[in-house]
Order: sequence, then structure tokens, then C-alpha cells
Amino acid sequence: MSEVVNPATGEVVASVAATSLAETDAAIERAARAHETWRNVAPGDRARVLRRFAAVVDAHLEELAQLEVRNAGHTIGNARWEAGNVRDVLDYYAGAPERLTGRQIPVPGGLDVTFHEPLGVVGVIVPWNFPMPIAGWGFAPALAAGNTVVLKPAELTPLTALRLAELGREAGLPADVFTVLPGKGSVVGERFVTHPAVRKVCFTGSTEVGTRIMAGCAEQVKRVTLELGGKSANLVFADADLEKAAATAPYAVFDNAGQDCCARSRILVQRPVYDRFLELLEPAVRGFRVEDPARDTAEMGPLISAGHRDRVGGYVDGAKVAFTGSCPDGPGFWYAPTVLLADSPDDRHWREEIFGPVVSVLPFDDEADAIRLANDTEYGLSGSIWTRDVGRAVRVARAVESGNLSVNSHSSVRYWTPFGGMKRSGLGRELGPDALHAFTDVKNVFIATEE
Ligand code: NAP
Ligand code: MG
Repeated sequence: MSEVVNPATGEVVASVAATSLAETDAAIERAARAHETWRNVAPGDRARVLRRFAAVVDAHLEELAQLEVRNAGHTIGNARWEAGNVRDVLDYYAGAPERLTGRQIPVPGGLDVTFHEPLGVVGVIVPWNFPMPIAGWGFAPALAAGNTVVLKPAELTPLTALRLAELGREAGLPADVFTVLPGKGSVVGERFVTHPAVRKVCFTGSTEVGTRIMAGCAEQVKRVTLELGGKSANLVFADADLEKAAATAPYAVFDNAGQDCCARSRILVQRPVYDRFLELLEPAVRGFRVEDPARDTAEMGPLISAGHRDRVGGYVDGAKVAFTGSCPDGPGFWYAPTVLLADSPDDRHWREEIFGPVVSVLPFDDEADAIRLANDTEYGLSGSIWTRDVGRAVRVARAVESGNLSVNSHSSVRYWTPFGGMKRSGLGRELGPDALHAFTDVKNVFIATEE
């Protein structure tokens, strides 16, 4: 049994039994058998079940959101968006089974066609920072393509995934097509990597564990998608709408208490407007509403755990603090939004992923300097570019080595468009029109027509 704690209060909200190795094996074997029938369900029928799943999630949106507030400390506003995202991603990929077309390729002597075949059992490993969306980005396209899914939620945040599996059954998903297995990464997660019936692992989490998963999958040439860490840059040029850039910068890093792989945790400001930007940023940070995440007005809740709070605090100790926001005292794992001034790009808080409400600021001289500093990291997940010069926006967007960039905006995740990282931020892309193909293998069939 592992206890699930409300990070806003420190109280135990549930106890969840950890899946053992033998139970994991049994679940994978059931999922492999279920694949034999699920893959042959007519495309229109598979689409209909997924649309029903989306509708059932929609009918339970408030319940799922409230559950996430209690389990992960997400603000209620964010948690509603997250449950809605699961619904939308299911609806989006419900359109896929009937459109999973191959090609007919002109060849001499016959007919050549390609098929996008499902892989079999897909193992999805989910972190604690966005339990619902990250689960959905894996299971929705995987199921649509005809795979069955075993999913391991993070030990700290299993509750919404367990509920989603129940809702899937209620919507008509056959038994063993989508199974949630709460438990330890070192037991359940490892087994997804080593069990030969699991044909693909979709992992989101730390670069350290992701690197080990990729190495483990290599043994069986197992397909893998990795969404890992980030240290994304928010580039503010002197010609930008400074008021808007400063007013929105806190949301780009403190949202979800900074526990977001896309957090714009490095702000680079062109030197002539550096002081003015900080002047504008300060009231935005001080006004950031950190409070009981169940309140509609909350903009940020607590960190996920006491251990994580200590880790985040370790980056701030000894660093140059420009200013901070506020947070409740008392129980719960609270940490106030914090703005640090970097002395140089060698500062530890400038280089490492903190995964908390801490942002570092550094000035830059010109466009080339901005690009060099933005790319001076092992990561490449997201980033923002603030400028009124369209030519510069395009030049910088092409030059920054990152999978998801936004200009005069901080948006990273839209389910219609591909999401994923360059460099050590990951491998492969989720969401968008192409994610479906990452859950299939192309089969080529040649049919001779000669008599
Ligand atoms: P993590 O260890 O990478 O955990 C992510 C998921 O992988 C969890 O479900 C975890 O299970 C599982 N896991 C752990 N070890 C495994 C293994 N050997 N084989 C298979 N699965 C395994 O991340 P964390 O420890 O929770 O967080 C550490 C840091 O990683 C964070 O502070 C942050 O910097 C980064 N992080 C990034 C993201 C992201 O979205 N890119 C998400 C989360 C964390 P357990 O529940 O048993 O741990
Ligand atoms: Mg870990």
C-alpha cells in the first residue's frame, strides 16, 4: 500500500495498493491477448468507443478535476483544463481509426500497398506533474491505432488515472484494452521495458530515467517515445511589447508551481530594457495568487511533496534573489514564486532543471548573443520569443534548438500540433496529426498481377 497525500495540506487522501511484478506480468499478458480482438474491431466501432470515452470523461469532468486538486495540488482552473484535455485528445484521435490510410505505390508487375499496423501492447509511464494530460497523450492515440495499453501512473499521483480506466470501461472499452497499474517505477515501469510483449514504451519524466529506459528498450529494439526535462528560454527583445512580456512571464514559469517541462525558467532580456523589464516583472510576481488550489482565484498551488520542496529550495540558497511572491504558511508543501538574477550562464540555477516556481534572469546584447545563450543547454523543449520584428521572430525561431516555440505568446501544448523535444529533452513527438503513426509500424505488401 502506498499513501496518497494532498500536497496542499499534507493529509493522506487515499491508500493505493502497489502492483507486484507477478501482477504486472499477468496484466501485460491479458493486454496482449486483448490486442488480438481489439486490433480487429472495425475502425468505425473503435472510433465510436473512443468518442463515448470522451463523452464519459466530459460527464465526469468536475469529479476528475476535484480529484486532481486533492491528489496533485493543481489549481482547480488548471485541473478542469486538464480533464478537458483528456476529453479533447480522445475526441481528436477518435477521428483516426477511420482515417488510418496507407498508400498505393506504383510498381511494375503488381499492386503495392502499405498498412499502418498496430504494435501490440503499449506501456505508458506517466510522471506526477500532469497526471491526466500526459496519460491521455499516450493512451488515446495508442488505442485509436489498435494497440492495447498498460499505464503506470506516478506513485505520488495515481488517482485520476485509476478513475480514467474505470470511465473507459463504462464507455464500453473491452476488458484489458486499457489497464492502469499503480506502483513503483522500479517494478512496474521497469517491467514495461523488459517484458517482450510490450512493444513500445511511452515515457515522460526525468532525463536520467528516460536515458535508462532508452538503453533498456534497445535490448529488444523496442519502440520508445521520450518526453524529458527542459530549461526553456523566454527571449525578450528591446522592441517587444514589454508590458505584455512582463505581465505574462510569471504564468510561463510559475504555472503548475513550475512543475512543467515547458516552464520558461530562463528569462533573457536585451540589455537596454533589462531594468525596465524587471521593474514591470516585480508587481506581476508579487501579485501572483498562491493559495488553496481549490479556490477559483488560485493561480498556483503547492509543490508535489516535502522532498521536492527541499530540492527546489536548494537552488535558491546562496543565489541572488531579485524578489519573491508570497505563499501560505502552515501545512502543505508551499514555495513562493522566486526570481533569481544569474551572474553568468554557469550558475547552477541557470543550467539545471529546477522544476519549481523559480526563474532566473540574465541580460543579452544582440540577436546572435540571445540565440547562443538560449542554445547553451543540453535541453531543447520549448521557448518564447518576444519581439515586434517579424523577420527577427522567424530568424530566432529557426535558430533556437527547441521542439516547441511561441512568438509573443507562451503556449506550448495544443493537441492539434506536434509536441516534443530536441536534444536531451526527448525523442519523438506526441499529439498532432502524426502521433498516431508513432503507435504503428508500416507494413508493405506487394501483390503480383502477372498471369
Ligand atoms: P522520474 O523518476 O523520471 O519519474 C517519472 C515516472 O517514471 C514515474 O512514473 C516513475 O515511477 C517512473 N520511473 C522511475 N524510475 C523508473 C525506472 N527505473 N523504470 C521505469 N519507470 C521508472 O521523475 P521524478 O523522480 O518523479 O522527478 C525527478 C525530476 O524529473 C523532477 O524534479 C523534474 O526535474 C524531472 N521531471 C520531468 C518531467 C517532465 O514532464 N519532463 C516530469 C516529472 C519529472 P515512480 O512513481 O515509482 O517514481
Ligand atoms: Mg525518480
